[in-house]
Amino acid sequence: MQPKVYALDEHQIPLGEIDPQAVYVIQKLREAGHKAYLVGGGVRDLLLGQKPKDFDISTSARPEEVRNLFRNAILIGRRFRLAHVRFGKKIIEVSTFRAGETEAADLIVRDNVWGSEEEDVLRRDFTINGLYYDPSEQTVIDYVDGYTDVAKRLLRTIGQPSVRFVQDPVRMIRLIKFCARFHLHIDANTLEALLDCKNEIVKSSSARILEELLRMLESGASKAFFHLLQEYGLLRPLLPRLAEYCEEHVEQNEMLALLCEADAEVRKHPLDRSVLLAALLFPLLRHRLLARAKKGGSFHLGIIHEEALDTIDQAFAPFFVLPRRLHALTAFILSSQFRIQPLDDRPIRHPRPPRDPAFLWALQLFKLRAAIQPELLPFYTLWTEACYGQYPPVEQVAEERRPPRRRRRRRPD
Ligand code: ATP
Ligand code: MG
Repeated sequence: MQPKVYALDEHQIPLGEIDPQAVYVIQKLREAGHKAYLVGGGVRDLLLGQKPKDFDISTSARPEEVRNLFRNAILIGRRFRLAHVRFGKKIIEVSTFRAGETEAADLIVRDNVWGSEEEDVLRRDFTINGLYYDPSEQTVIDYVDGYTDVAKRLLRTIGQPSVRFVQDPVRMIRLIKFCARFHLHIDANTLEALLDCKNEIVKSSSARILEELLRMLESGASKAFFHLLQEYGLLRPLLPRLAEYCEEHVEQNEMLALLCEADAEVRKHPLDRSVLLAALLFPLLRHRLLARAKKGGSFHLGIIHEEALDTIDQAFAPFFVLPRRLHALTAFILSSQFRIQPLDDRPIRHPRPPRDPAFLWALQLFKLRAAIQPELLPFYTLWTEACYGQYPPVEQVAEERRPPRRRRRRRPD
């Protein structure tokens, strides 16, 4: 099939926006006789007028050939073998053209079948992610009508949507992610397939989905993302507790309100994943504690911490397994909310911050809560002042908390 080719005067992507090291990698591959293009998210972002996060390259060269061409390249992945070309901290991902999946509606099991440049775009998920950019000609090369979809701001799968979703259900989460991030519309057939296939989502790898969820919490578009997950019925199979919460709080959804504040904050500076996860779960914990308080009994921080651990497990287990460090930190941040403002409203005369510098992260969540409930502000000020000089700057908390590296014991000769 002949692709459509769009010249500079049409697409108007300035060459200066493209990473010079990505252009260098493409040129070097071509000088060695291979085909090579920029592909995927980077091209999409440039056409949407956004700054690309990364630049990926697709080439006819095999992974070993890429490694032999670049001293700074390493090969990664067993199932999906590709090369990482490193320039300091920056990584340019170089993958070999792969053949498409068979049309059988089945989970994909093999990924390392090499193919042509056309086949390589046909295996990709959405038309807007299936465009090539050729830096020497400054052209966009389009086999899938992705260029017009970008102009129409339309999300459409490449190929039959229900087949593509069953083959890899993570694509449904990716669809919602792009929808939330770029405010795109979903094509009618793609949307119908999404609604038909939503329960397939639990058949995919929970680690991949968890990673997409955590990345979306960090994206600055998490409110829209979780709202759409709920609206299209994917939240229920993935996180049934959160779905229940959303159904019961259609009018006043504190979870979405907190995510909205978190998004605004993340756009200014990054927040740790544990703070964002705690923002997602805090309303669930608060509801549990209030229900328990109605029945009477005392509440010390130990019990609250147990409830926090249980809230996390009930929301995420058994489908997701949170990394241990993230689980523990999230519980600490959640329970610390009630150290900052005790449940029984008793006055705090002498605030005593705990030793753990992650308490600063608990204060970050409290600040998000205070943006919605201004009556919390005096507590925030009181504890922030009490913490003054106690901890390292908040940006260094992660460093401070890292356990010291264990020295390897030398074996006696
Ligand atoms: P982001 O900006 O979040 O990185 P992205 O589209 O670049 O978005 P990546 O995970 O970096 O996402 O993937 C790079 C490219 O690989 C995509 O643009 C798409 O063409 C292809 N791709 C990624 N995941 C899938 C998938 N599950 N099925 C088919 N193609 C995929
Ligand atoms: Mg990417």
